[in-house]
Amino acid sequence: MDDELRQVTLYDTTLRDGMQQEGMSVSVDEKVRIALKLDELGIQFIEGGFPASNPKEAEKLCTAELVAFGTTRRRGVKAAGDAGLRVLAAASPRTVTIVGKTWSLHLREVLRVAPPENLRIIADSVKFLVGEGKRVFYDAEHFFDAYRDDPGYALDCLRAAADAGAALVCLCDTNGATLPFEIERTVREVLAAVDVPVGIHCHNDAECAVAGSLVAVRAGATQVQGTINGYGERCGNANLVSIAPALALKMGAGGLTPAQLERLTETAHFVAEVCNLSLGTHQPYVGRAAFTHKGGLHVAAVETAPQTFEHIDPAAVGNRQRIAISELAGKGAVVRKAREFGLELDADDDRVSRIVRHLKDREHRGYQYEAADGSFDLFLRNELGEHVPLFRLESFRVIVEKREDGKAVVEATIKVHIDGERLISTAEGNGPVNALDAALRQAITRIYPHLADIELVNYKVRILDEVKGTGAVTRVLLDASDGQSTWGTTGVSENIIEASWEALVDSIEFGMLRSRENGAAPEGRECEVEPVAAEGGEDA
Ligand SMILES: [Zn+2]
Repeated sequence: MDDELRQVTLYDTTLRDGMQQEGMSVSVDEKVRIALKLDELGIQFIEGGFPASNPKEAEKLCTAELVAFGTTRRRGVKAAGDAGLRVLAAASPRTVTIVGKTWSLHLREVLRVAPPENLRIIADSVKFLVGEGKRVFYDAEHFFDAYRDDPGYALDCLRAAADAGAALVCLCDTNGATLPFEIERTVREVLAAVDVPVGIHCHNDAECAVAGSLVAVRAGATQVQGTINGYGERCGNANLVSIAPALALKMGAGGLTPAQLERLTETAHFVAEVCNLSLGTHQPYVGRAAFTHKGGLHVAAVETAPQTFEHIDPAAVGNRQRIAISELAGKGAVVRKAREFGLELDADDDRVSRIVRHLKDREHRGYQYEAADGSFDLFLRNELGEHVPLFRLESFRVIVEKREDGKAVVEATIKVHIDGERLISTAEGNGPVNALDAALRQAITRIYPHLADIELVNYKVRILDEVKGTGAVTRVLLDASDGQSTWGTTGVSENIIEASWEALVDSIEFGMLRSRENGAAPEGRECEVEPVAAEGGEDA
């Protein structure tokens, strides 16, 4: 018996099942970057998609094991003669996962394979790969639907795999339809009926994928398959980013160590960034709002005892507590927020009263800092005379030209001064903000090279109602990221370009501030990975 598989392990399928998400497009190089990051986090198994032609890549991960993925043999072919299985047998990873059918509905309606023949297909395929020296995980597709329909046959499928030498059978809730209590009961019954370790693979169609995975572990499952941030087709897969801290911190079930968990927030943001998706502000554990407190009473409570409104210590998952600044929050929150970036202020300090006054004035004009911690940080530093701007703006100009052929061309020219040097730059963009961003970067990136790591990831515009007889006011919210964390900035003006410019400059100033304060470059890695070829993907 494989002892490693009796411990709870995490099995990531972001690079295979996660890629089925609508709109997901990730290059082979980007997949390798994700694999390295997951390896660094401490995920035990990483499924790299279909087996690679390059035989070396599996040895280059530091801690994780790369797993090759494929399907059972086709009907009417010997396993040894099945092209897909032969590729798997020749692939470098020692462990392979194959997915096979379990549900008679699929056998009857889709495959037109008789149930006994399907059992032979499963057994032959597993036996062939085991004979080729592989450790085989068997993914039972649609297991829960099959078990609901015909438990005896569903168990026969698992036994066919186990008797042929599978090291683990994984129960897949392929349609994501099963509720947690049914998963828990089924896993218990399966464990009583088969003699190999059992894994769980949930989809999120009933929004129960995380819950289903956790109860499966409680019932005795020892491998949890899922994806980073729950990426996957339809409503996604089970989100390993939520599962890992629950297993380790709330259930004492293992998976990741406390030290590894501290990299969770950074990893979730990194993967989102590489996939060109923005991480949900409210995503549990790792989102920017996951430990954000708003309102005087909550703020006062978490000041004295964080556990009053925090289910775990945010640092345990690499996140941090934030205080949302609003009129409700007052002096205490200003002091608290200032302390977050190392400025000690006393609530009786005259400067604090002045800051609260200025803050209320700004809120009155339409500013809102709850989702714009970057701008609030800069506001506070400005008020305290602590902020040195990156550059001085002489002027900018944006031209939007709509042509007869239907194309709209946007061009921005910008003139700034840095240390007595006058810099002029012109750039095109697909919109005014994009063109301004490009022109500003072009002008100053030579002097501030770290700017190249900062990207705008989200841009939101809100038109506010007329205030005090003035015209309507535009509030812009920008999210920027350096691949490790995300911050929000804001700008307000009657003019949308000016509001956007204000938010844009703040996002760059704040990003540069972080890099200037954090200083050190990220640690180098000892090992490197070459591209893992992966194309397409089967359901599981
Ligand atoms: Zn799946």
